[in-house]
Amino acid sequence: MAIGETTYVNSVREQLLAGRTRLADVLADNESEQMLRLLEEVDGALHRIDHGAFGVCEVCAGTVPAGDLLENPLLRVCLDCLTPKQQRALEYDLELAAQIQKGLLPPTDLAIAGWEISYHYQPAGMVSGDYCDVIKDDGRLNFIMADVSGKGVAAAMLASNLRAVFRSLIPLRLSVEELMVRANRLFHESALPNQYATLVFGRTSNHGELELANAGHLPVLLAGKSGVTAFESNCKPLGFFSDETVDVVRAVLSPGDTVVLYTDGVSEASNRDGEEYGVEALRRLVAEQQPPCCPSKLVQACKQRLAAFRGAEERADDETLLAIQYAPETGQSAAAEAAGA
Ligand SMILES: [Zn+2]
Repeated sequence: MAIGETTYVNSVREQLLAGRTRLADVLADNESEQMLRLLEEVDGALHRIDHGAFGVCEVCAGTVPAGDLLENPLLRVCLDCLTPKQQRALEYDLELAAQIQKGLLPPTDLAIAGWEISYHYQPAGMVSGDYCDVIKDDGRLNFIMADVSGKGVAAAMLASNLRAVFRSLIPLRLSVEELMVRANRLFHESALPNQYATLVFGRTSNHGELELANAGHLPVLLAGKSGVTAFESNCKPLGFFSDETVDVVRAVLSPGDTVVLYTDGVSEASNRDGEEYGVEALRRLVAEQQPPCCPSKLVQACKQRLAAFRGAEERADDETLLAIQYAPETGQSAAAEAAGA
């Protein structure tokens, strides 16, 4: 995206003005030096936009890369012109943000009775705009896979915000429809005008009843004895829709059935020839694992296949994959088998 593009600069101005209003609100309640400094920086960026100096490095008069500006419209110098001290401070901040974000992931050895769960999470940079979560509440298992638009720190902050939204809504025991409508509203309030998130929210009961809402995200794969079913998106991404209703699909899981969720870092991984891995290849891989193997083997197989496909090509996007298998306690399972036989 060229910085000279009027529409682009206008959208940044709009973002900054919206951010300025929010900052002024915060400052009205609680004045802090840090917030005042931030307000000054926002005003500085608005001034640069109005005087045609936006995206021009203040030190070398070169161009600040559009991608960097997209992540941080407050940038005043290009990365090369940061002093070593500024560079170290930036690296330290990112390192800290990455650590905080890792701490927000579900534990890798997550064990929930009745379910086998495994996931893979690999940001392309230090921090990620992907959000993956598994939350047990009141005998039900809730899971989320989301991808926030954009990259870098701005996307990561919004991903963390999504986590807070879902973690506070889930204990309210709302219907999946109501929960999605409220999550959309809360997300919309904290996102910048051009930010959105594609997201899948799922909930299952101990008896295998599954409810799924797919808001603009990639198809959810459900692997069972009779093959792999795909659940396509049935509403707009979060931040886009203002409807008061959300479509929820329902299914009943049999023991061994596995739900597979992923972000486009997986399905759109590309190799040296510019070919895309694709949802279909992932679907075939999941189908090959039948009769159902355990989620950790499935996730491992996906990781290996993806690495082999990508070859020496660098990872371009955050990669997240989650597999959840319905594995009711043996007594319950035997009863289900008997009922099915
Ligand atoms: Zn410079």
